[in-house]
Amino acid sequence: MKKIAIIGTGLSALSLAHHLPTLDVTFFEKSWRPGGRLSTRKQSDLKFDHGAHFLSPDHGVLGFTEALEKVQAIKKVEGLYTSNYHGGASKEVKSIIIGDNGIESIPINLHKSLRYPTNFSTKIEKVERDNKDYYLFSDKDKFGPFDMVFAGIPFEQGATLLQDHIDFSQYPTPIFNSIWTVMLGFDKRLGTDLQFGYYLTKEISFFMNQNFKHEQFNQESWVFNMRSEWTNKYYNIEPYVLEDYVVNEVKKIFQSDARATFKKSHRWKYANPKKSLRDLNGKTYISSVDHKLYLLGDWGEGPAMQDAWLAGKKLAKSVEEFNISHAHNI
Ligand SMILES: Cc1cc2nc3c(=O)[nH]c(=O)nc-3n(C[C@H](O)[C@H](O)[C@H](O)COP(=O)(O)OP(=O)(O)OC[C@H]3O[C@@H](n4cnc5c(N)ncnc54)[C@H](O)[C@@H]3O)c2cc1C
Repeated sequence: MKKIAIIGTGLSALSLAHHLPTLDVTFFEKSWRPGGRLSTRKQSDLKFDHGAHFLSPDHGVLGFTEALEKVQAIKKVEGLYTSNYHGGASKEVKSIIIGDNGIESIPINLHKSLRYPTNFSTKIEKVERDNKDYYLFSDKDKFGPFDMVFAGIPFEQGATLLQDHIDFSQYPTPIFNSIWTVMLGFDKRLGTDLQFGYYLTKEISFFMNQNFKHEQFNQESWVFNMRSEWTNKYYNIEPYVLEDYVVNEVKKIFQSDARATFKKSHRWKYANPKKSLRDLNGKTYISSVDHKLYLLGDWGEGPAMQDAWLAGKKLAKSVEEFNISHAHNI
């Protein structure tokens, strides 16, 4: 059986592995955990989904919800929501899909169901070819030989990693936005009946109470995302300045005297909704001329979880079709 390396354990890489037939696959993941931008931070009595928050039930990708249900990774909840708090939009009850025990249940349960060996805390820094075989290198180890390598990682990192094997000058660069996220714990309720929504202020583009997803918490935990233009302007802001700014804004808006008992922030990259590779040149992934090296990610399709899933699903299908049409078994 051919040997396959998959770099990354984000949703696009997991989707690819899920949709390929059973193979001799090994994952390589730079972090100590699977999931990439699907990340849940646990802090004593608090829990924060501080990358992706939820999936819309009407995401439109066939089989995605069912695959997540099969590995018991999700549940459906209803929350009181507004599309624009700052602009005075009305409140409505909205159904959403969330992780069963934090958004991290999605990658953890999917990864477990695949049962493929995984090298965690292993950042792949170089890919080399020797005859028909490929080898991967971290800072201290060499892995291989592999017949095929798939990198499910952000575009620019992939373009650097695979630059000796693929001519990236022929592709436009899908755009990523930067987003500061702020996790806050409070000693009591903030006094709003809203659970989540957009534009709490002109600058706080998204907010979500974590308690309504995880009822067991005694303390109030919230996640706030800053607008990408604001994030660019304050790209190097000191975390404590950012966190205090958000605490003050939130207390002012909800007229609350709650005390922030936990503060943490993280800066992420978010694929731009209108500048995916598909938008820019019609392709949804990148492959080497010999069809043995591939680069994929949400950036091939769009900005959300369903796009990452679709990216893996489409690539698996075209790899299978390519190999069938060339009368090889992968
Ligand atoms: C703040 C924020 C909020 C979001 N909110 C939502 C939401 O509410 N709903 C929604 O649907 N989507 C949301 N998204 C988008 C969603 O999180 C992403 O679309 C999806 O998780 C991307 O998956 P991916 O596999 O393409 O990339 P990633 O999740 O980035 O996965 C890449 C993986 O590769 C690993 N890696 C990278 N380089 C290497 C290397 N050299 N060697 C080894 N491993 C490597 C990384 O550690 C990571 O695990 C949000 C994103 C952000 C940032």
